[in-house]
Amino acid sequence: MEQNPRLIDPFQRAITYLRVSVTDRCDFRCVYCMSENMTFLPKKQLLTLEELDRLCSAFIDLGVQKLRITGGEPLVRRGIMTFFEGMKRHLDAGTLKELTLTTNGSQLEKYATDLVNSGVKRVNISLDTLDEKKFAEITRWGRLAQVLRGIDAALAAGLRVKINTVALKGFNEDELFALQEWCANRNMDLTFIEVMPMGDIGNEDRLGQYWSLKDLRARLAEKFSLVDLAERSGGPANYVRLNETGQKIGFITPLSHNFCESCNRVRITCTGEIYTCLGQEGKADLRAPLRESPQDDAPLIAAIHAAIGTKPKGHDFDYSRGDVAGQMTRHMSHTGG
Ligand code: SAM
Ligand code: SF4
Repeated sequence: MEQNPRLIDPFQRAITYLRVSVTDRCDFRCVYCMSENMTFLPKKQLLTLEELDRLCSAFIDLGVQKLRITGGEPLVRRGIMTFFEGMKRHLDAGTLKELTLTTNGSQLEKYATDLVNSGVKRVNISLDTLDEKKFAEITRWGRLAQVLRGIDAALAAGLRVKINTVALKGFNEDELFALQEWCANRNMDLTFIEVMPMGDIGNEDRLGQYWSLKDLRARLAEKFSLVDLAERSGGPANYVRLNETGQKIGFITPLSHNFCESCNRVRITCTGEIYTCLGQEGKADLRAPLRESPQDDAPLIAAIHAAIGTKPKGHDFDYSRGDVAGQMTRHMSHTGG
């Protein structure tokens, strides 16, 4: 049990983990995430860096201990290092226990050291393939070499790296062991993610992309002995250790497992909307109380409490009927994955 949790939802879950999307923009166009021609939000709709600081600080005052910055691609947001530097004061004060981010790695060569100087110790880097051609195909605009240099820079700066790989049928099935071994050699953990039904992504066939992690896990078990780890993140991930390598492998299976009982998190979009559940449409606006009351956080804090008071019990994703039920209209890059 967390010390002195002040944000408790109607199901007695303490909210201690905040994920914040700082931009909807990205330098990649991953096929499962975005369509090639995305319309992005006008800049004035985005929270400013100062507003992001006020908002995150308010949540930290209310008991949030872990902050994950995401996007879109968080490191393409102009001036974002100023925000990270600002959050360091909460780490130094001991109120924030962890500041982290999820990134596609393209800008890490530039920013890894600055992130470390801001108190970041771990990063999640998304990488679905080690093949240059396939990488260009899946990200549309990305270049593998740049991301690999980013990963090297992160490791050299002393960051602990976890690789996030979306499991894609017929795409990276054949790279399961190559990816696992590549991560093991660099002392990086690896987490696989099932494709989720988020947003309109153009012509891509969502069900055709779906590779069940149950299947993936069974494939791993043919080569390694898997030890289930009790560790839970409060989110949709569960972990095993490969006895032979000592490596930790995670599985994020929001579609096939129920993780909602232990949910400790809420998400904020780059426009300041709070989503209290990844798989539900329910949201509330926190930008208005921020902007209407620039000096006084009381309206913001009241709006946060009101939103937490509506956090639903769980989500409705379901692929089991052969079509995509519970499909969300928003993109992953909107709520930030
Ligand atoms: N741009 C950063 C990155 O790619 O790591 C952060 C944002 S991205 C939306 C966060 C994570 O969501 C990435 O690991 C990405 O692979 C994953 N993702 C995006 N769309 C997804 C989908 N439809 N299903 C499952 N995972 C998805
Ligand atoms: Fe960009 Fe991340 Fe979405 Fe890929 S998954 S398009 S890198 S936001």
